[in-house]
Amino acid sequence: MKAIVVGKDHQPQVTERTLRPLKYGEALLDMECCGVCHTDLHVAHADFGDVTGTILGHEGIGIVKEVAEGVTSLKVGDRASVAWFFEGCGHCEYCTTGRETLCREVKNAGYSVDGGMAQECIVTADYSVKVPDGLSSEAASSITCAGVTTYKAIKESGVRAGEWLVLFGLGGLGNLALQYAKKVFNAKVIAVDINDSQLEFAKQYDADVTLNPKEVDVAKYIQEHVGGAHAAVVTAVAKQAFNAAVESVRAGGTVVAVGLPTESMDLSIPRLVLDGIRVVGSLVGTREDLKEAFQFGAEGLVVPKTQLRPMEDVQDIFKEMEEGKINGRMVIDLRH
Ligand code: NAD
Ligand code: ZN
Ligand code: ZN
Repeated sequence: MKAIVVGKDHQPQVTERTLRPLKYGEALLDMECCGVCHTDLHVAHADFGDVTGTILGHEGIGIVKEVAEGVTSLKVGDRASVAWFFEGCGHCEYCTTGRETLCREVKNAGYSVDGGMAQECIVTADYSVKVPDGLSSEAASSITCAGVTTYKAIKESGVRAGEWLVLFGLGGLGNLALQYAKKVFNAKVIAVDINDSQLEFAKQYDADVTLNPKEVDVAKYIQEHVGGAHAAVVTAVAKQAFNAAVESVRAGGTVVAVGLPTESMDLSIPRLVLDGIRVVGSLVGTREDLKEAFQFGAEGLVVPKTQLRPMEDVQDIFKEMEEGKINGRMVIDLRH
């Protein structure tokens, strides 16, 4: 089968691969499609360690083709996910307290195990979440990482209906953050991006305010106009955005860190202490979060903007993402 792997030059490469036979509890998916997440760029560039040769992809959707012994959660014909949270140990303090993505024995698709950018993919059946009817595979692929991650991040932000949420970064994750924030959490949203085309895109999805840090002092504007946001979610891959987020929230506000620039942010200790600011990291979402995030998609509240591209376009897609040229998500077509 054809697969997209991390090449020796830290670029994604289309290559031929053969999968091993299934083990107990596993299922084989005939892949439909897989979105390209900015995390795939970090992985290919070895930002979290060198994984040359690994099949990329953690926004994968496929149709179950075969199940091994012991599988009860999936059956042949089901559509199911290949997510970054690929498998946990199932028995540690994190796995048993609703924080399974923090499991120390975790396996991550497209990083520590082969992922979904291939014509076929082996999943641990209990960890592969079924896609509800009424949600296209392209939309589901985008929700498998970008959607569930931002849905969970907004949960972590604690923002309530009618409160102000500022989103830094309106790319693949950010535009879905905007939709979940508006349609599911009923928040007022300020969208911040250095790219005007992302801000135009955000306006189409009903952002209440759009701001470009190249033109305005974002934190000053937000403090002056709304008295500071109640919470911020940062998906921008830049430390400046994290710093601005801390300055943009009101006393008692929460900053949820999601983007993964390989830098440190500045944190004013007096700001944190005297204004009671919380800064929390949020990592994808649990299987239950993904189930919920899919359901909002199936109900039409969240409509990912996706574009299908052939496998051979993968290097171009990575380049377009680096240059910030993508509105919504590029999804690789894996049907054959
Ligand atoms: P993307 O490239 O589609 O979007 C990033 C957006 O940030 C772009 O629109 C870009 O213009 C904008 N941006 C860049 N600098 C900015 C700045 N200074 N201020 C405001 N906006 C700025 O990427 P994506 O797929 O949305 O992923 C975003 C980040 O989130 C990546 O680092 C990715 O690895 C990470 N991520 C984290 C999780 C998690 O679980 N925490 C999950 C998925 C992705
Ligand atoms: Zn991702
Ligand atoms: Zn565990």
